[in-house]
Order: sequence, then structure tokens, then C-alpha cells
Amino acid sequence: MILTCNYTQGILQGLIFAYSFEKLYLSRKKFQLVDLYKVPTRLYANILRRKGLLIGFAVLTTAIITFGFYTKKQQQHDQSDVELAAFPVIVPNMAWGFALDTLQLVHKTIDEGQSLSDILAALGIGSEKMQSLILQAGQVFDLRGMRAGKPLILLSKDSIQGIDYLVYEPSVYEYIVFDLHRDQSVQKFVRPVTSKVETAAGIIEGSLWNAMVDRGYSYELTAKMEQALKWSIDFHHLQKDDEFRLVYEQDYVEGKPVAVGNVIAAQYTTADTVFHSIYFDNGAQRKETGYYDLAGKPMNAGFLKAPVEYARISSYYSLNRLHPVLKYRRPHYGTDYAAPYGTPIVAVGNGTVSNASYTGGNGNYVKIRHNETYETQYLHMQKIATGIRPGVAVHQGQVIGYVGSTGLATGPHVCFRFWKNGQQVNHLKMDLPPAKPLPDSLMGKFAAIRDFYVPQLQGIHPVALNHATTTTDATATPPGQALKIDNP
Ligand SMILES: [Zn+2]
Repeated sequence: MILTCNYTQGILQGLIFAYSFEKLYLSRKKFQLVDLYKVPTRLYANILRRKGLLIGFAVLTTAIITFGFYTKKQQQHDQSDVELAAFPVIVPNMAWGFALDTLQLVHKTIDEGQSLSDILAALGIGSEKMQSLILQAGQVFDLRGMRAGKPLILLSKDSIQGIDYLVYEPSVYEYIVFDLHRDQSVQKFVRPVTSKVETAAGIIEGSLWNAMVDRGYSYELTAKMEQALKWSIDFHHLQKDDEFRLVYEQDYVEGKPVAVGNVIAAQYTTADTVFHSIYFDNGAQRKETGYYDLAGKPMNAGFLKAPVEYARISSYYSLNRLHPVLKYRRPHYGTDYAAPYGTPIVAVGNGTVSNASYTGGNGNYVKIRHNETYETQYLHMQKIATGIRPGVAVHQGQVIGYVGSTGLATGPHVCFRFWKNGQQVNHLKMDLPPAKPLPDSLMGKFAAIRDFYVPQLQGIHPVALNHATTTTDATATPPGQALKIDNP
């Protein structure tokens, strides 16, 4: 293409030159025919001749330079073609800073109970050198982190000489290179992390877990979504056809997804209600960093929906429940969250501990006063957390105890009680108090973030997955669409 273009230009310039030359020649011939010494004609002829000469010279020069330039360029082009054909460029297969094609490598993992000295001894490293390597290694990374299952890579330039390098990967973010043939030889390398903003969306058909996993989203993203929305959404009780949309940060190392950063914006629709949660980072002022609704009100100013993560409600608030231990009907003023023994129980809101003790019915329990209106109470703890005693201030999400079955309880659970003006109420049915929005000085900054991400959320369109469980006629499945089978 370039060459064709160059030729065309060259020919054009040649034509211009020829035309100018002819014009110059003709004009000279014409002047010979007339009496050149006659003043008006001479003046005219001089001007014409000079002009003609000038144009001719300029065009000739341009043509020579251009021709020279094109020729050189074409030669270069031809040369590089030859080079490429003779010496094909190979992109080296690089890992841990080594061109792997020049080395033999063996992948291993650390065995149970294997220490760095065991590993080095197995590679035939003498005791003096081993001492030096272990000393250096200790200055570069935490040796206690070398646990069973973590990757080790042995690299050798040639198999007869033995192992030249030992690579240990404490995590995807970094690796340690032991140069076994040199003294200054243990180095840590940190891999750069790049972060991309990505989106996710789905519809709840069965469980949240299935909705996420069936769409290829990670457990980590599920947890981060809960973090963004837990103040508005009770993730233990999602409704079929609930819909979520997320804008979040995904971290990559060497092109591979390694971790989910923050969910930046979330939208959750249940029945006719749409909830939004926008992450606002106020830099050094950590106080204002967190999740806000569209009006700039902090999501966490209210209460967490549950005092235990990933628990199941085993019994609801009820005014007429058959007590599992006492075997007669009486009101149940709390909500029971069943979870394994020892699961952390957290304060659902900021407040002050008003009670932390033991009674025969409640077992070990903690009561927190949040403000003049609200208190919460957590019963049947295996153990009250260290430092939790009356008068101590606690913050939302702080661990106050651990799930147990002390007092009147059949199995491990926390009986969670919500008090409003001294009365126990059903917290799952409550309209919680409004929170104060961000100060005016920060609203502009917040609004800019909100108005950038909310349209992105609106642009995501979750699709229902066509599940085998909902397909009554198996033959109706289109060919080539392998369907994931839900757990029954
Ligand atoms: Zn209970």
C-alpha cells in the first residue's frame, strides 16, 4: 500500500517536472524567434525565463530527493522482510523473571511439616551454604508462612549440574528466588496488581449461592456484595426473582483474576423495592468512607440485618411458639440464628454494652444499648468475647461473643432480641430510623461518584439462566448448551 502510494507520487512528480521542462524549453525557443533586445519583450522574456528556470530547478531537486528517499525506504523495507524471514521473532515464555525455554523446571509443593532447611537439604545444599541461605531468606520474607501445599519451583540450566534456582511462591502477589550458586542469593519479587472495573448481575432462582456460582462469580464477590448491601438486604431470606446488579473492582496479576476489590455500586431489587449502595472513599478521612444510599445517607447508620454471617434462621419471632425445651407454647420474642459452635456473633449497631452475664434461661448473653430507643440482646453464647462488659462501647460489626447453646437451648444458635422502647419487637418487620446524610461539603463529591455509577448499573441486564430443573421436557434443551444441574 505504502509502496503503491510512493510510486504514484513519484510518477506525478516526474510528470510535473517534464511539463515544467517543456514549458521552459519552449519559452526559450520562442524567445529566440523574436528580437530579444526589444525592451518590453525582453523584460517579459526575462521574467518568464527566470520563473521557468526556477520552477524547473525546484521540481528537479524535489524529484531527486523524493526518489532517493523512497528508494532508501524501500530498501529498508525489503531488508527487514529478509530479516524477519530468516530470524523469526520468538516471544520468550517468561516466568519468575526467567526465560523458561532455556531451563528445565519441576513443580512441587511444600510437604506437611517440611521446613526450609528440609527443602534445601533435599536439594543437596551443604550445611554452611544452607545457613547462609536461611539467614538471607529470613530477612526477605516470613519463613513461618512456608506452609504445606504452597508452590515450589525447581529450575535447572542442565540436569547434570543440579538445581540452579529455587522459586517459592508465598502468594500470587509475590515470589522468592533462591539462587543456589551465588552468595547474595535470596530475592523477593512483587508482581504488579492491576485493577479493572467490572460488572455482574443475576436473578435469584434458588439460593444466592447458586445464582452466583451458576454465573461463574466467585465466593469472594458474593461476600463483597453482602458487605455492600447487608444493611438493607437480609441475605438469609432472599426471594425468588430478586435481582442484583454490581459494579466492582477486579484485581489481576499477570492477566489472571486474583481478588475482588470493593463493590463500588450495587443495586438490589426485591418485590417492588429497589435498593442502592454506593461506595464512597473519603481518602484519609476514614470516618466517611463506606457505603451510602442514593441520598448520601450511610447504609450502616442503622443496624445489620443479622448478628451472625452465613447463618440460617431456625426460629422466628412468634407470639405463640411451642418451646423446643420446655415443650409448651409461649411467645418467642427473638429470632434464632443457627450456626456452628464458636461462630462469631457481632454487634448489629454502634452502642454501649448494658449487660454481659449469665442466667439459667439466657445462658451467656450480651445486651447493647444503641440509643434512647433501641437495644439488642444476644443469647446462648458459648463464650462472651474478651473485654465485653457493661459500660464498654462497641461498634457495628464488632465481635461480642461466640455461638453456643448455654441456657435453655437444644443446639448451637444465637437468639437475637431487638428492643424498642423497652419492648421486644420483631426486627425483621421493623422500619429503622433514618440516618443523617453526608455533610454538604462532601455531597458534591459523592454525587459525582453516584451519577457516574448509577447509569452503569442501569445498563446491566441480568438474564435468567435456563435451568435443567425448570425444564420439564429434556429434549427441549437446545443442542450444545450444557446445563448445570442444580443441587436438589
Ligand atoms: Zn430464641
